[in-house]
Amino acid sequence: MKMLEKGFERRFQDLPLELEGYDWFDPHVHILPPRRMKGLIRWVKGFFPGFPLPEDYGREQVLKGLERAGVRRFFNLVFPLWAEETEELNRFNYELCSGVPGAVPFGSLHLDHPDKEAETARCILEYGFAGMKLHPFAQGFSAFHEEMRPMYEVLQDAGRPLLVHTGFEEFYGMAIPLKDLERHLSRWDKVQVVAVHGLFPRFDVALGLLESYPNFWVDLTNSVSCMRIYYQYKGGEDGGWEVQGFDPYEISKYERHFEKLLEENAGRVIYGTDYPVGFGAHRALLEDLRYFRFGEGVERQLLHDSVLSLLSRCGIEATDYGREEEEITSLAELRHQKESSG
Ligand SMILES: [Zn+2]
Repeated sequence: MKMLEKGFERRFQDLPLELEGYDWFDPHVHILPPRRMKGLIRWVKGFFPGFPLPEDYGREQVLKGLERAGVRRFFNLVFPLWAEETEELNRFNYELCSGVPGAVPFGSLHLDHPDKEAETARCILEYGFAGMKLHPFAQGFSAFHEEMRPMYEVLQDAGRPLLVHTGFEEFYGMAIPLKDLERHLSRWDKVQVVAVHGLFPRFDVALGLLESYPNFWVDLTNSVSCMRIYYQYKGGEDGGWEVQGFDPYEISKYERHFEKLLEENAGRVIYGTDYPVGFGAHRALLEDLRYFRFGEGVERQLLHDSVLSLLSRCGIEATDYGREEEEITSLAELRHQKESSG
C-alpha cells in the first residue's frame, strides 16, 4: 500500500486541467442515487483504506468537481445490482442528465429483468440515452448471456453502443467468456462494444479484438493508473499495490501490448476515470497518462477525439450534448493566436 497511501489525498483534488484547445470528454463517471453512492464508496474504502471521500458524497459535489477540472462532457453510468432497481436507476439517470448540459446518460439492465426489450427501448428511444452499460462482475451475470438478447436487438436496430466491464478478473474472481464476447461482436455488428478497463492486464487480447472487430473499442479507465503503478514498481520507485490481482509478474507479460494499444490504436481507445471513485481526480489521472509520454496526439485522441468518433459511429452528434460550438470557437481562436504570433 506504500504508494497509494502517500499523496493519496492530493490525488483527489479537483484541479483545472488546462488542455490546449479541447476538453476531456470523460466516458466513465458515476453519479448515483445517495444509497448506491454510499455503497460504492464503502466498497472502495474496503480495498483503498486511505480513500478520502466521505460516504455521503453527493451529486452536487461531483458536479462541482467536474466543473473545477473543466470536464464539461461525460458519460454517466449506472447499473442495477438486482432487477427491481433497474427502472428506478434508469429513471434517476434520465432526470439527472436532463438537468446537466454535457451529461451523456447510459442505461443499464439486469439479467432477471422481466422485460429487457421494453426497458432497453425505454432507455434508448424514450429517454434518449446514448447506449447501455453492464458490469457483469458486480451484477453477477454474463453480459453475453443468451437471455440478454432482447437488449442486443434494440441496440442493433438503433446502432447504439454497449459499455461492458472487462478485466481485473483476479480482483473480482470472475472471468469474461471470451468466446461469447467474440460471437457477440460478429453477431451484433452494429453495436459498438466498449471494453471498459481494456481487459486489464490482458492487453494482448484487447489488441487482437481491435484488429478483428471494427465494432470493438477500449476504455482504459483505471488501467492507465495501474500500469503507471506497475512501471514505477518495476523501476524501483514504488512499492506496488498490495491488492489481489495486482501481480507485477503477470502484468509484465502484457507491457508491450499496452504500449502498442496506445501507440498504434489510439483512434479506438478512450480514457475514462470512474470519477469520483477511481484512482484520483482528473488532474492526477491525466498525470498518470502523461507518465508514459505517448505525446500530445495520443493524449488528445484518448481524452476527446476517440470519444467523438465512437459517438458519431453510433449516429450521435456531439453537438447534441452542447459544448461543441464553444469548442470550435476556442480552436479557431487558438489558431488565430498562433498565426498572429508566428
Ligand atoms: Zn465504473
